[in-house]
Amino acid sequence: MELGRKVNDLTLSMQGPNISPARNTFWRAVLHETEARKGPNEQEAKVGATMAWSPRSVLSLFSNDLAIDLGTATTLVYAKGKGIVLCEPSIIAVNQRTGRVEAVGKEAKEMLGRTPANIIAIRPMKDGVIADFEHTEKMLDYFIKKAHNRSLGVRPRIVICVPSDITQVEKRAVKDSAYRAKASEVYLVEEAMAAAIGAGLPVTEPTGNMIVDIGGGTTDVAVISMAGIVYSRSVRIAGNRMDEDIIQYIKRKYNLLVGERTAEEIKINIGSAFPLDEELTMEIKGRDLVEGIPKTLVISDEEIREALSETVSNIIEAVRVALEQTPPELSADIVDKGIVLTGGGSQLKNLDKRLREETGLPVSMADDPQASVVLGTGKMLDDFNLLRKIAID
Ligand code: ADP
Ligand code: MG
Repeated sequence: MELGRKVNDLTLSMQGPNISPARNTFWRAVLHETEARKGPNEQEAKVGATMAWSPRSVLSLFSNDLAIDLGTATTLVYAKGKGIVLCEPSIIAVNQRTGRVEAVGKEAKEMLGRTPANIIAIRPMKDGVIADFEHTEKMLDYFIKKAHNRSLGVRPRIVICVPSDITQVEKRAVKDSAYRAKASEVYLVEEAMAAAIGAGLPVTEPTGNMIVDIGGGTTDVAVISMAGIVYSRSVRIAGNRMDEDIIQYIKRKYNLLVGERTAEEIKINIGSAFPLDEELTMEIKGRDLVEGIPKTLVISDEEIREALSETVSNIIEAVRVALEQTPPELSADIVDKGIVLTGGGSQLKNLDKRLREETGLPVSMADDPQASVVLGTGKMLDDFNLLRKIAID
């Protein structure tokens, strides 16, 4: 490894001290690629250095291959060699009269609940399925174009991670839209597998790993062993349901109507699944349903915990059922290694603690829960053998 780096440094210094910044960037890019290909020993490093000169690999430097997590709440894009280049809400705002796309992602989210009658902000991937083909496609197209560095003109290979429950027709539609957005090759992978790889679980080993991905539309529980999904279960109860719970609770208790975005803020700021060490409160604004005017009130973490209790119980129940249905040898592995939580919704305060209390198993959170899926998908861009093994048709 050390020697390999010296080979690279040498190659760089051979360009001489007067190398132009542009050329320097070019060589650094070539060597970066070499670094990525380099094996653990000197021999492989030399081979890697040679490989970097082949026309195909020089081309691949510009191809900017992409990994996409097409989530119901958030879409993330990872570009090879760069990392995560885009993370935006899966929302698209459309003018109903003209059919024109007004905004996508963050900008469209700002518009939620604030649009004039002729513009609608849509979540085209509600509940873990593609509820609206046409707009999912437009959204995907926009994100690919935004993330892909087209000035270099090479078509990217794209790996897309799709929700676990989508149908063959929907898979076809996702693939087609990626091809239309100028992909050269498109691969689809299952979310649970990508999440597990992204969370750093040893998915190819003959040992059971349980991963629980709590997203916007669905909670997906999966047991993975030897690069295959041994068991999986998906329930349509996750982050969005928590937001709805909060809206209903505040309406019932205070006759106050709050919007979807406010409800999400409340959940993120003071929501929890198990009592907190310190009490939290938040001032919220909404419309009084009796007097019809805007009103402000202060709400506590305890109230929100109550509002979320049924949904949290349902999520825990899904994990319990999965544990009951896991083959015994793999159950034994899970007892030792525990459960890994991932997905934006798993960040609800003390959800890990609650799950630990209820199952008696070790529970840990992935390092960057909302990014696990895209990071796992991104790893496949570097490991085509693994990708071939787990890509779905
Ligand atoms: P998906 O994979 O379905 O696109 P994500 O993994 O991006 O979903 O998770 C989105 C959900 O996570 C949303 O419901 C969002 O409100 C929720 N979320 C994000 N951050 C937090 C947080 N800190 N606490 C609780 N929920 C959160
Ligand atoms: Mg997800």
